[in-house]
Amino acid sequence: PDAENEITDEIREKCQELILSNAQLEEYKKKLLNDLKKGLGKATHPTSIVKCFITYVQDLPDGSETGKFLALDLGGTNFRVLLIELSKNHFEMRSKIFAIPQHIMLGSGEQLFDHIADCLAKFAKDEKIQHEVLPLGFTFSFPLMQKGLTKGILERWTKGFNCSNVVGNDVVQMLKDAIDRRGDIQIEVCAILNDTTGTLMSCAWKNRYCKIGLIIGTGTNACYVEDQKNAEMFDEPDRGSGKVLINCEWGAFGDDGALDFVRTQYDREVDEHTVNPGKQLHEKMISGMYMGELVRLALERFTNEGLLFGGKGSDQLFTRDRFYTKYVSEIESDPPGTFTNCKEILEELGLKHATEQDCINVRYVCECISRRAAHLASAGIATLLNKMKEPRVTVGIDGSLYRFHPHFHNLMMEKISELVEPGIVFDLMLSEDGSGRGAALVAAVASRKR
Ligand code: ADP
Repeated sequence: PDAENEITDEIREKCQELILSNAQLEEYKKKLLNDLKKGLGKATHPTSIVKCFITYVQDLPDGSETGKFLALDLGGTNFRVLLIELSKNHFEMRSKIFAIPQHIMLGSGEQLFDHIADCLAKFAKDEKIQHEVLPLGFTFSFPLMQKGLTKGILERWTKGFNCSNVVGNDVVQMLKDAIDRRGDIQIEVCAILNDTTGTLMSCAWKNRYCKIGLIIGTGTNACYVEDQKNAEMFDEPDRGSGKVLINCEWGAFGDDGALDFVRTQYDREVDEHTVNPGKQLHEKMISGMYMGELVRLALERFTNEGLLFGGKGSDQLFTRDRFYTKYVSEIESDPPGTFTNCKEILEELGLKHATEQDCINVRYVCECISRRAAHLASAGIATLLNKMKEPRVTVGIDGSLYRFHPHFHNLMMEKISELVEPGIVFDLMLSEDGSGRGAALVAAVASRKR
């Protein structure tokens, strides 16, 4: 970190627990690999923490996919409806964002799917396609136990959603039922997938080495290309590739205590105030929904201990979730030795009395927490790379935290290099709209003639 020698000693010491050594990351890798294998194995799958769900996607796109598709994207900050036209090496897309109000995020499943169907119908009318029956890919980015390409049972809600009567049900059927209740539009659901699969597919469309998809946005998750023979839960005929994409659902890693050796008081406190305490503990150390709050908790503690702001905080600083993850990006974007963004943010938080020394310390706390996230994600990717044993792999990545944090990409490049087995060449590629285009590609590849 920048200007390291000016950081207050006590703060540096207290942040030490946020810095992961390579020895700790090696332990993490060992545990994650073990959990991935449990998820893949038939006997161990039911009780495994890292689920390694089968996606039923056996083929990657090759750029020759064509057709017109609808896509739905539910699973984070926004809900989107998209119309996508694929032609050889080219695609066009029109889309509309719809809000999901909090009362629907926490309401009944029927309300949620009625709302989705309502948005879809509005979009179809606006696009004048309400009389067509278009194939639809549904990007649904929650842990989904798939029974086929068009059947997915919700295992649990994450990322702040908690609708009743959905867990344990087939969400494709729930969508179809909602559309039937209206009766004014018709769709043909061709595929359900999550955003990691969409990201992988959309990058693979452009880059034939892309075999891992990674999300670092509201939540975190990864998927990768596995041999069908290792995916013991896979129960469909081989279409020829011998491969199948696995949705790791690695956000849940640590839910059995596997990550307790690196979790801190901040992680425990963040977790206690979520709608899913004790769950998605890996995700809560990495992703955008929680990072700002981790930083805030550390700043709150250091203020109360008299180490920051002369011991005088503010209402905002002491308000849960008031320190946004984008602040972390902004603060770390200040050039070395300058604190323009940092000062502005601290003022916004009612901390006009912050000194330059405070800014140095605040930036250090941000750096420790974002680096830790980047290092954990890197160890996860290195685990997959080492397991896959492919000589060259591109990782397709989506999510605002990866996209906008000024150092996340470089931190990951550096750390993966340290943790991957020699001889494996990798690179990290930013995905462009994986959830939308990826949904169309899964639908297209699935309907590909052999
Ligand atoms: P989703 O994962 O929900 O599809 P995003 O990829 O946009 O959507 O991720 C949203 C998350 O990204 C939010 O938790 C938000 O805090 C975080 N985020 C938004 N802007 C930034 C930024 N500039 N830097 C870091 N994180 C950000």
